[in-house]
Amino acid sequence: MALRVFNTMSGRKEEFVPIHGNRVQMFVCGPTVYDYSHLGHARTYVAYDVIAKYLRYRGYSVFYIMNITDLDDKIIRRARELGKGPLDVAREFEVEFYRDMASLGVDAVNLYARATEHIDEMIEQIEGLLEKGYAYVTETGVYYDVTKFPRYGRLSHQNPKELVVHRIEVDPTKRNPGDFALWKRSKEGEPSWDSPFGPGRPGWHIEDTAITLTYFGPQYDIHGGAIELIFPHHEAEIAQAEAYTGVSPLVKYWVHTGILYVNGEKMSKSLGNFITIRDSMKRYDKNTHRMFFVSTLYRSPMDYTDEAMREAKAKVDGIKNSYFALKSLRAGSGGRELLAALDRAREGFLESMDDDFNTPKALSHLFGLTREINRYCSKHEEVEEGIRERVLSTLEEFLSILGIEFGERVDERLLEGLLRLLVDVREGLRRERRYEEADEIRRRLKELGIVLEDTSRGTVWKVEG
Ligand SMILES: [Zn+2]
Repeated sequence: MALRVFNTMSGRKEEFVPIHGNRVQMFVCGPTVYDYSHLGHARTYVAYDVIAKYLRYRGYSVFYIMNITDLDDKIIRRARELGKGPLDVAREFEVEFYRDMASLGVDAVNLYARATEHIDEMIEQIEGLLEKGYAYVTETGVYYDVTKFPRYGRLSHQNPKELVVHRIEVDPTKRNPGDFALWKRSKEGEPSWDSPFGPGRPGWHIEDTAITLTYFGPQYDIHGGAIELIFPHHEAEIAQAEAYTGVSPLVKYWVHTGILYVNGEKMSKSLGNFITIRDSMKRYDKNTHRMFFVSTLYRSPMDYTDEAMREAKAKVDGIKNSYFALKSLRAGSGGRELLAALDRAREGFLESMDDDFNTPKALSHLFGLTREINRYCSKHEEVEEGIRERVLSTLEEFLSILGIEFGERVDERLLEGLLRLLVDVREGLRRERRYEEADEIRRRLKELGIVLEDTSRGTVWKVEG
């Protein structure tokens, strides 16, 4: 079956056919680095991480770019508050962003492209738009005349004559209220670059088109971002790029992630329910976060609550227990019944992922498999080695697409604690002069490569070999 993707432009699922055969060019709007990233970012970037991982799993060669908005009004404001330079603030929070992404296991991006490193390309595009008559210069900057681009409004499914103009800067020098800035004249003390239209800095929308045109050319496969970026940001990108290159469409598949609510409310600083990724990571680990995000379709709204996070953790624990239950069975015979369940799960999982990356449905097939594993392990003590291998590697394969990984069943801290417990039990036995039992513990541990030494400070242990 073919992979199908929901395209915001057409409002329906479409068969996924990349422009250049097996190569997929994918761009996702990155963060404006003026503060710590929040759970809304986490949801969006985990979603595209899973999409990129799945496309690669399906054999596509994915070139995934994310921009870093390191010049913006918000950064300038924040820098004033902190008494620092805007670029210093941007670099600082860019590093924090990478840290947050690493903590979430978001590692599918090939290139993070900074806006400030593509100013020349932006100036070139603005010059082109001026030449072609799509843009005009005023004393406050350069603006895009949206009435010159008939397709403006198509992505957000708006009538160009009745465009919503809120969220677009008010400026008395503009021709139309919906016109957006391509270049802003810098005010005193703001970062500024020289240009043919005076010293200033680029508008936000031109960043993405300059970056994608540089690396992908005039057309590419997937553009992602949160749903609230459709208008005016993505609409503006289309208007800029298509007017500049004359090639349409700029993007073959527009893919948008849904809103993340916190306890039923939209996250906002004024409501005080703004949760940063690092705060949430203090309470729940990477696997729990990823399980929470993939439990809902990427483009549906979802709600972050303690209950939902606890449920996600229980799901991860459930899979982990099944995985290790099968892993710890004795090698022997049996397990044929697992193969039928494995085939069903694989088919269901891939079919669901092919259906617009439907992770909740894919998960239900994964749980179908773990239920079978549990049933088998409760009734049997051994399993055929080849069958175990196949089942476990398939589970690992699916989990790695979702970005969930177990590592070892017990972590180091737990292992240390268990050894301490055994040593204490053995010392207790020795105090009671039950030397035979105490020696049995020492002997069994030695078999595992752990040597106990009785010293004047008590018993210590070391790993042999
Ligand atoms: Zn963007």
